[in-house]
Amino acid sequence: MLDRLRRPLRDLRISVTDRCNFRCTYCMPKEVFGPDYMFLKRAELLSFEEITRIARLFAQCGVRKIRLTGGEPLMRKDIDRLVGMLAELDGIEDIAMTTNGSLLRKMAVKLKKAGLKRVTVSLDSLDNERFGQINGQGVTADTVLDGIQAAEEAGFKIKINMMVRKGVNEEDILPMLEHFRGTGHILRFIEYMDVGNANGWRMDDVVTKQDILTTIRTRYEIEPVEANYYGEVANRFRIKGSKDEFGIIASVTDPFCGSCTRARLSADGSVYTCLFASKGHSLRNPMRNGATDEELLALIESIWGNRADRYSEERGRKGPRHKIEMSYIGG
Ligand code: SAM
Ligand code: SF4
Ligand code: SF4
Repeated sequence: MLDRLRRPLRDLRISVTDRCNFRCTYCMPKEVFGPDYMFLKRAELLSFEEITRIARLFAQCGVRKIRLTGGEPLMRKDIDRLVGMLAELDGIEDIAMTTNGSLLRKMAVKLKKAGLKRVTVSLDSLDNERFGQINGQGVTADTVLDGIQAAEEAGFKIKINMMVRKGVNEEDILPMLEHFRGTGHILRFIEYMDVGNANGWRMDDVVTKQDILTTIRTRYEIEPVEANYYGEVANRFRIKGSKDEFGIIASVTDPFCGSCTRARLSADGSVYTCLFASKGHSLRNPMRNGATDEELLALIESIWGNRADRYSEERGRKGPRHKIEMSYIGG
């Protein structure tokens, strides 16, 4: 199944909740996501059975990889049960999760047993105070490091995501690289993106891929590494003379829309064909109104077939638009 730019559908990112126990300044700033914020109500969320049905139909359309995200996916009760249900699906080769890591100590073993293959843990600083400010809740970096250790003990393959923002955590680039060297966990630096409308994004706040490489080259000699597979989003590098790899996800300065094979499913059952989309297509409504599998498959095919999104390649050329928040459709 190809979209209008001849890109196949391969990955499905499922947001299982729009809630989070963090208030990262660049994602769910406290001023916007305060006590009065209207999160989705329980009845609006897809049940695990509904998510699994949709994932099965997506697998029939070519999806091979599923990533659970959010909000914070570990906030969704009994999420390991969903992992177990998805792991049974024909065609799904890989199930991963992106998490802030704060609840991993409690959940890692259960998730592993249920069939989760990989976890990506977000950590923006090793400095407890700075990290507490970034996540808006005073959660320490040590808590997340302990979650990473729990994931390690449970036997997961682990990646670490560090979002880099000017004037906030550039000074953590080298300490983070140093910390994760030799652990086998791949650290990926992420350019600060203009997702949603809540974070007040400005280009001036972006620490670019080139800035990140310049910082790293002050201490290390590095070399590029070939991409592992079609559609890999991170540019990969290795510290010369070692096996230590890191990645940079440069969606602002080096976009990768040409090989974007990802669809996103929001917690209330809408499909988004781009992280920067303004609107989604509800599958929940037809599903709850009794649509058959064939009808839902036809809907998915038409949504993907009509897709022509390439926001990051067009950034700034099309004027401002309303965009959906990251916490609603996941990273
Ligand atoms: N709560 C989980 C977590 O933080 O890992 C999963 C959802 S979170 C939206 C997924 C990823 O998006 C995180 O790694 C986070 O750092 C990243 N992210 C959120 N807002 C971003 C932004 N404006 N620019 C770049 N990355 C962002
Ligand atoms: Fe929560 Fe993840 Fe967004 Fe931080 S980045 S507020 S942890 S959803
Ligand atoms: Fe895919 Fe949209 Fe990101 Fe481009 S901007 S890589 S189309 S999600």
